[in-house]
Amino acid sequence: MHSKLPAIRAFVLAAWHVLAVLGVILYPPSWGLALLTFAVYVIGMFGITAGYHRYFSHRSFRTSRAGQLVLAVLAQSTLQKGVLWWAANHRHHHVFSDHKEDIHSPKHHGLLHAHMGWVVSNEGQTHDARRIRDLVRIPELRWLERYHTVPPIALAVGMTMVGGMNGLVWGFTLPLLLLQHATFSVNSVAHVWGRRPYATEDTSRNNFLLAILTLGEGWHNNHHFYQVSARQGFLWWQIDPTFQVLRVLSWVGLVWDLKTPPARVLAARNAAPVSP
Ligand SMILES: [Zn+2]
Ligand SMILES: [Zn+2]
Repeated sequence: MHSKLPAIRAFVLAAWHVLAVLGVILYPPSWGLALLTFAVYVIGMFGITAGYHRYFSHRSFRTSRAGQLVLAVLAQSTLQKGVLWWAANHRHHHVFSDHKEDIHSPKHHGLLHAHMGWVVSNEGQTHDARRIRDLVRIPELRWLERYHTVPPIALAVGMTMVGGMNGLVWGFTLPLLLLQHATFSVNSVAHVWGRRPYATEDTSRNNFLLAILTLGEGWHNNHHFYQVSARQGFLWWQIDPTFQVLRVLSWVGLVWDLKTPPARVLAARNAAPVSP
């Protein structure tokens, strides 16, 4: 029975795609609905990039306990499991980047598995709590992890109450599906296509298109080279909206201690071989 579970999860994932397409056909778009999808996508992506990735996984800036909770709830609304699961698996990725133990390495497990296959696999359901000792100490994060479906269910119910089926399709089903593909493309696409100005020991790449779709996460080679930075677009033209929003939030005191790449990191570009 246990071995059938990945197939069942894959079926649910495929059904999610079918529902999104059917929803869009049955409930045609308007400018307002397209704007709703865009807003949910951008806010959810900020939760993932600023929250799950740059704050919880890498501690690249600081915020208050309330700010931390807001980031966790925002990120969890996107149906990418809980904050502890996300951060633990992501830290695991950085420890074993493109080694066999890396659960979503396209080099070892293939592009499809690196993209979404690992999410439905049995290994993808667990996380190593030893990687997140700093986070498991916080009771509200443990609660959110345990009830990780509460924020997305609340979003789905809220959207349906406000907008009926239009709200459910354009404010939940579609933007969350797009969010998942964009987020997981950092694990798959950004380890296959793009430039490598830093000769890291993994296959990470900088991908401009992905940087736009993920609010700055496409500068994945930069990130693998200097992981602790809240800024992933190191150069002026490397678009990084997440960092720009964090900068604005720091001006009003909602976040602080934003870590940025020092001069030695910027100077190490295109200077292969380099060591992190
Ligand atoms: Zn990372
Ligand atoms: Zn990576």
